[in-house]
Amino acid sequence: MAFALNSYPIAYRAKFSGGKWSEEYLEKPHKTAETEAAMSAEDRGKVEDSRNYYDDMPLVNYTTQYGLACFEGIKAMPQKNGGLAIFRPDQNAARFSRSMKGLFMPPFPEDLFVKACIETVKRNAEMGFRPRYKPEWEKDSFMSADSVYIRPFTIAEGGIGVNISREPWVMVVTTPVSSYFSGGSSDAIVTERIRATPKGTGWIKACSNYAIAALAKHEAIDAGYMECVFLDATHRKYVEEGSSCNIFFYLKSGELATPELGDTILPGITRASIIELARSRGIKTSERKIAIEEAMEETSECFVSGTAAGATPITSLTWQGKKSIFNNGKTGKFTAEIQNTLKGIQYGALPDTRGWMVQIL
Ligand SMILES: *Cc1c(COP(=O)(O)O)cnc(C)c1O
Repeated sequence: MAFALNSYPIAYRAKFSGGKWSEEYLEKPHKTAETEAAMSAEDRGKVEDSRNYYDDMPLVNYTTQYGLACFEGIKAMPQKNGGLAIFRPDQNAARFSRSMKGLFMPPFPEDLFVKACIETVKRNAEMGFRPRYKPEWEKDSFMSADSVYIRPFTIAEGGIGVNISREPWVMVVTTPVSSYFSGGSSDAIVTERIRATPKGTGWIKACSNYAIAALAKHEAIDAGYMECVFLDATHRKYVEEGSSCNIFFYLKSGELATPELGDTILPGITRASIIELARSRGIKTSERKIAIEEAMEETSECFVSGTAAGATPITSLTWQGKKSIFNNGKTGKFTAEIQNTLKGIQYGALPDTRGWMVQIL
């Protein structure tokens, strides 16, 4: 995944204090977009890196010490008509608010969230920091397309005793990304690790959930796989998620199945969108328990979903030393169709009949 920290110059920062939110836009070091584009990668890297430093925020806080924080991931896509549009920011706003409440923080107002995302992308774009639509993306169904990744997150106030965050900051930074999907085969392995436990924080987009996910993904990559798949903590039987993405199985019976939501599964917005798209096409789509044995034996196509991944095919699944290869190790027709539809809507190449896209420019 091309996903270095080369953030755009304008960042958003809000702070909760005395019962209310105050907002500001920060202009971090930069040259003009043209000058930066013409710089050597090394020199440009230095300027981009310097944007990631803030000397007016406390180092010792409940986020850096105890992992009390949550975040969001959203994308803005260059549109076929030349504009720039964000995919379903209202859904991320609602989830961010739920995540903050789940961590006992004052929830960030949803309207401020949507406005902050739009405005941060817009201010950077107006300075020339934006990707431009390229018709050649249509040839590979936008698999190589560029976008702006928007990362809203919380940071707690200073403190060292174990405590909740009552007066957090909310920040929004943006960075250009190119596609996550490489088109090659992508094998997954079931990990022994447990990502989320009942009554825990698995349903919250909490930073702390990522410690175990990062370890499990690292182990999977070390063993030659692209992704790890988690089973449920209680029965060690039902499929839950990938490291940072939801999972779908298109079964031999023609049913599209994905694990049902609960307190151990992150309610993905891509997941919800795919369910809606599949149902509207008359595909039998169920949210239910999926035993690992069923996934291994009955799957025709498998894919993971998320803002970064879109719908990325999983070409095989390995569990207890057994490997099931799906669709001869190639991207299946169903997966490709879902990917094409989703990307087509996101890049303005297909009509957005559901009002999912918010035009920025
Ligand atoms: C963010 C995330 C997802 C995907 O959510 P989207 O809204 O589709 O990007 C899935 N699982 C986990 C654990 C996540 O953190």
